[in-house]
Amino acid sequence: MKTPFVNKIKLEEIIQKHPTPFHLYDEKGIRENARNLHKAFAWNKGFREYFAVKATPNPYIMKILQEEGCGFDCASYAELVLADKVGSKNVMFSSNVTPDEDFILAYNNGAIINLDDFTHIEILDKLCGIPETISCRFNSGGDFKTDEKGNVMDIPGEAKYGFTREQIIEGFKVLKAKGAKRFGIHAFLASNTQTEDYYPVLAGLMFELAVEIKEKAGVEIGFVNLSGGIGIPYEPDRKPNDIIKIGQGVKARFEKILTPAGLGDVDIYTELGRFMLAPYGHLITKAIREKKIYREYIGVDACACDLMRPALYKAYHHITVAGKENAPLEKVYDVTGGLCENNDKFAIERKLPKIDVGDILIIHDTGAHGHSMGYNYNGKLRSAEILLCENGSFKLIRRAETTEDYFRTLDFSNL
Ligand SMILES: *Cc1c(COP(=O)(O)O)cnc(C)c1O
Repeated sequence: MKTPFVNKIKLEEIIQKHPTPFHLYDEKGIRENARNLHKAFAWNKGFREYFAVKATPNPYIMKILQEEGCGFDCASYAELVLADKVGSKNVMFSSNVTPDEDFILAYNNGAIINLDDFTHIEILDKLCGIPETISCRFNSGGDFKTDEKGNVMDIPGEAKYGFTREQIIEGFKVLKAKGAKRFGIHAFLASNTQTEDYYPVLAGLMFELAVEIKEKAGVEIGFVNLSGGIGIPYEPDRKPNDIIKIGQGVKARFEKILTPAGLGDVDIYTELGRFMLAPYGHLITKAIREKKIYREYIGVDACACDLMRPALYKAYHHITVAGKENAPLEKVYDVTGGLCENNDKFAIERKLPKIDVGDILIIHDTGAHGHSMGYNYNGKLRSAEILLCENGSFKLIRRAETTEDYFRTLDFSNL
């Protein structure tokens, strides 16, 4: 079962002011979840979540997370600007293929720079010098397994990110020689994980790496950044990851590996995106057309430009028809947007209640990697973002694009 955080009456009230489609965010859910994360890692004094800005790059959402104690993980120039506009002093810069101007802005803004490659040490040194605090991203290579049964979660050996084991040890020697004082390691080895073992297993691997770096490079690691990757249940039959259990799993590895090695002061950082926001966003769209050919289609006013995941990854997003929450699932529909692309489908052969033109559809779990992956194909305009506040009021936090926005980069006068 999946229950929307908003009902039809509220949606109708919002739609009177702001037409569909739009992404709606649930402030209450965002805050509660952030507090649970902090509770789960309260055992670690220096714990900090650096929210992965790419998931939901809206300053109003970022402000809420900042109030809940989060910093920001940025990976581009614009994301650094955004974190600065929000007034954050806690920024992690975890980029790759990093342009010079991005390094310079990250350095000038005092972000913790997380280097993606050995060659970036020299590049950063030439551009701005090596900062006192520096981090390196690790790629363990091969397969990443979560348990003794050898279940493979992902294949870091095929991923473009990070230093190899030899490179990271050599890298820390070089960084220390260049004057760095506080060191961190970072890894992101699997995405949207459905098991509570991902963080603990990753932590075990990173803690052992920290011990190895201490022995071989003579460098004491000050923080371990477990990055993103904790998944959420997009499908209604899955259960959410228990973040408290995950925190305890990391703690057990910490006490087993780091504490005996004299590294009991290590701070744990995370860079969660999906886990922080995905369940607390809905894409609200209206059924505007119906069509019967070899299948039955419901055409809605949103399209893949508002939510790319189904088209890109065949990702499942649950759909609730507002006001028909308890109606029998008597129909089978493809729910589609209007792009001239047949993969522009929010649902394929999905059992749903009978949908009438004018019905409001709630597409679940769009709070992360939803609006932010938006694009303008077929001249479609990006939708608005609206915040459902804790007190039940609502606030436009990004207006919808207009045709003028779409043409702003063109100069018709030279035609
Ligand atoms: C995308 C990304 C994240 C967030 O990933 P989620 O799957 O949304 O948790 C964190 N860190 C880095 C470096 C990323 O690229």
